[in-house]
Amino acid sequence: MMSILVFNCGSSSVKTRLFEMPSQRLIASCQVEKIGQNDALFSAGDTKRVISAPDHTTAIAAICDHLDIESNNVQAVGHRVVQGGEQFIEATQITPDVEREIEALKTFAPLHTPANLAGIRAGLSLIPNATHVAVFDTAFHQTMPEHAYRYAIPSVYYTRDHIRRYGFHGTSHRWVSERATEILGHPFTGVTCHLGNGCSITAIKEGRSIDTSMGFTPLEGVAMGTRSGDIDPAIVLLLARELGIDETDRLLNRDSGLLGLSEKSNDVRSLLEHARAGDLKCQLALKVFAYRIQKYIGAYLAILGRIDGIVMTGGIGENSPVIREAILKDLESLGICLDPGLNAQCLGREMCLSSASSAAQIFVIPTDEERLIASDTYRLTRALAKG
Ligand code: ADP
Repeated sequence: MMSILVFNCGSSSVKTRLFEMPSQRLIASCQVEKIGQNDALFSAGDTKRVISAPDHTTAIAAICDHLDIESNNVQAVGHRVVQGGEQFIEATQITPDVEREIEALKTFAPLHTPANLAGIRAGLSLIPNATHVAVFDTAFHQTMPEHAYRYAIPSVYYTRDHIRRYGFHGTSHRWVSERATEILGHPFTGVTCHLGNGCSITAIKEGRSIDTSMGFTPLEGVAMGTRSGDIDPAIVLLLARELGIDETDRLLNRDSGLLGLSEKSNDVRSLLEHARAGDLKCQLALKVFAYRIQKYIGAYLAILGRIDGIVMTGGIGENSPVIREAILKDLESLGICLDPGLNAQCLGREMCLSSASSAAQIFVIPTDEERLIASDTYRLTRALAKG
């Protein structure tokens, strides 16, 4: 028996889970938010307290104290890393060389990589005897064929600058695809929809990603909580000329999507309430959101041909019957039939929502990125120990 710690570091937060392996039993979970602010918040279950956490190292030190790393026999630590470029196609032990390679990818993910690295460095210094493993959001999508990952811009920007589509949320898409494979008894072919604050849709052929809606960065694809998703690049040029680069960046990443259209919120629960009360902007925001997802599903059905099913996951996909229905109800002519009664019953648990006559299944499968990171970390640590 060993235990494995998983760190998921954002720019101002660290989420942590401690698992017993190989049973995958969750031993503990805690997080620190508002890192770098005066009122950084530590929480574990119902316990919440303000702590001093000017940086990731102090935040992770507080987490290590709380989890009692020594007595829990933590032998390995899995770190979520957002951008793994073309070189990282699977979970990888963190060595000084690997750390340098992750650092070199910083220009591709300037918001995420520094936080991921801060977590790795804090982990290495505070838990030096454990094996540290990086699990990359991009890795699952490295099976995309070249015609799916290349942009139609001059080739030199790919060959020299590595500008291509990478795709993200790979750990989540892989988790639900593997679970669908278990349920079906054969490798899953179909479309997985990760709908949370960030949203992405993936086409999966026999368990492998062949296309995904996010691209060079998580800004491409469907409309999201605060990100625009796909947009005519000429608009970006126009805005950049008018507003400057930084303001345009902020506008597209933080002020757009559901928040930008509704002018109220990026939170689907709140938008549903306002929409029910007659707010036209909120109604439109939700309509645009569902419509764009429908379009991606249609495109992926065209490239996949026969499918086993569609999987919904993430906070919205797992919990919102209204949004699921808006996305799926018009797909009957394609042989995908949602059972409204089953859909209404399904709140945050694994279920099949398609009617008996449906040619393809509709599943809700709760995502669990941390558990998959723990299991990858365990597998690699065992393999390294065996030499
Ligand atoms: P993150 O991408 O930050 O992990 P989540 O996967 O938790 O986000 O998803 C957050 C989104 O899920 C929010 O838009 C939230 O409103 C939505 N959500 C959570 N629960 C529900 C619910 N019961 N009904 C509708 N939307 C929900």
